[in-house]
Amino acid sequence: MTKRAVGVDLGGTFIKAGVVDDRGRILSRVKIDTQYARGPDMVVARIALAASKAVERAKLTWARIGAVGLGSPGIFEPSTGIVSMSPNMPELAGLELASLVRERIGRKHINVFLDNDANLAAFAEYWVGSSGDTRDLVLFTLGTGIGGGIVLNGDIWRGAWGVAGEVGHMNLFPDGIRCGCGNHGCLEAYASAPALARRFREAVTAGRPSSMAPLLARGVNVSARDIARAAGDGDRTCRELIEETGHYLGIGVMNMLHILNVERVIFAGGMSAAGDLLLEPIRAEARRRTMPLAMRNVEIVFSKLGNDAGLIGAGGWAMRAAK
Ligand SMILES: [Zn+2]
Repeated sequence: MTKRAVGVDLGGTFIKAGVVDDRGRILSRVKIDTQYARGPDMVVARIALAASKAVERAKLTWARIGAVGLGSPGIFEPSTGIVSMSPNMPELAGLELASLVRERIGRKHINVFLDNDANLAAFAEYWVGSSGDTRDLVLFTLGTGIGGGIVLNGDIWRGAWGVAGEVGHMNLFPDGIRCGCGNHGCLEAYASAPALARRFREAVTAGRPSSMAPLLARGVNVSARDIARAAGDGDRTCRELIEETGHYLGIGVMNMLHILNVERVIFAGGMSAAGDLLLEPIRAEARRRTMPLAMRNVEIVFSKLGNDAGLIGAGGWAMRAAK
């Protein structure tokens, strides 16, 4: 395993990059605009630029770097580095993104490894995060959507076409509300941040009391974070809605435990701000519904790495893959 790699986190608005060392420490940080509107060639150039700036800012040269790991939301063919689906940047679909970035960086010894950002975050949790001594874990990332990553025996589980770990699209209600994926009743449609905000609007519209009802009446966009904060301040409706979110997520955890029998389930993303108000109901629901043997030694925790998980995982995975 090489000693250092560049991790890159490619988003629709920003590209974040950093040099990561072999203990998962971030040695430099760079954040630049993606400039997606200027086309895929520009995105490739911006990724290479961010990576080079990260190397420079760490006061290193490319000769001291082993590889580049590139993470982004979407689905990528594991063996080819081709973008199968990029929800935020649809024009990237079909591109051999990893090799294009590699060419652009133009250093013979630098290989580029492309993966789903949640897969890489899950790897980071296994490598230096909240996994403890277990080699098997499932990560749920709670944000605009619900993403996920699976690590089995210390390795990312991607499935045949890179689709594995789409935990947000497990089904809770076959005839439930419509999900962004086109299906009905997915976990994401009930427990993502926008889903919580939507359930809050519906609850207040139906007459349930909340300290934030006046805000809503004024047309303010009440976010999941606002709801978490109000719940922390004792708002009963917000508290109940977060508990309900925990109940949905707990069912998701149960499904994963029955299928994979992992010992660690980690939650990350903006909704972690709700803290124990969210985590306790997840744990309770999972305990209530899971076979005792599948629940043995299971710990359900928040990520320790937070927003850095993607970057650390990208660097760490690249080091591992380049060896
Ligand atoms: Zn779905």
